[in-house]
Amino acid sequence: MTQEEQTLGRDDANTVVRLTAVSKRYSDSAAAALDAVSLEVHRGEVFGIIGRSGAGKSTLIRLLNALEQPSEGQVEIDGIDLAGLSPAELRTLRKRIGMIFQNFGLLSSRTVAGNVAFPLELTAATRAERTAKVAALLNRVGLSDFADRYPAQLSGGQKQRVGIARALATDPDILLCDEATSALDPETTRSVLGLLRELNRELGLTIVLITHEMDVVKTVCDRVAVLDHGQLVETGTVADIFQSGSHPATRRMLAALSL
Ligand code: ADP
Repeated sequence: MTQEEQTLGRDDANTVVRLTAVSKRYSDSAAAALDAVSLEVHRGEVFGIIGRSGAGKSTLIRLLNALEQPSEGQVEIDGIDLAGLSPAELRTLRKRIGMIFQNFGLLSSRTVAGNVAFPLELTAATRAERTAKVAALLNRVGLSDFADRYPAQLSGGQKQRVGIARALATDPDILLCDEATSALDPETTRSVLGLLRELNRELGLTIVLITHEMDVVKTVCDRVAVLDHGQLVETGTVADIFQSGSHPATRRMLAALSL
């Protein structure tokens, strides 16, 4: 932390995502899907959010790209409160946030190159710029030879690499990963997580990953938050959580690890 940041009292320059006492209720009668969650994600880290089904992980990730609004509390990206943004400002902000999905979300009628080009068609990039960018992105994820294939002709790991290339098309500085390896076998999972780690290191990409698997956290995350019934019950470095995680929800997930 620099002296200036210490004077400010908060390490703002290093904080890319901040949730302050965020609660989310889908209806007045329902239990809170998220209950007073506060957390910070630091620039350039791989941050994992782990919890079993129904813990509130998807809700949290939807709040981060403003697909949902919090019932209470604040969601900030780079110090900007998402609640105060106009639709145009939100569109600009979303270009800085890439996302990949468990089921890849590819358009089956488009080739690999066509899928990766899709977000670029909504920008001012010329056709030549788009072609060059798509080629660079496919090279980046190791799929240069697959540009003309269709999603149905790819393995799960290849589909997720296309998803990653598409997510990177707008040069985001944050990548949200929604159970991105849950549909993949262990070996393919390792290779996709290896690619994410590489992108994190080489591009300085901040990654927020939600998962129900401790294996994923162990392989790729720097820090992790444990969600249980909408509450954040534990946060720490991966080493801390593995060595001294004490909440029953944490212990349960550690016990489920394939050793
Ligand atoms: P996870 O991703 O950890 O499985 P979710 O965020 O999907 O958890 O769900 C948390 C809770 O919120 C669950 O009880 C779920 O039923 C509820 N929930 C999620 N999305 C909606 C929605 N769109 N409408 C109503 N309830 C929802």
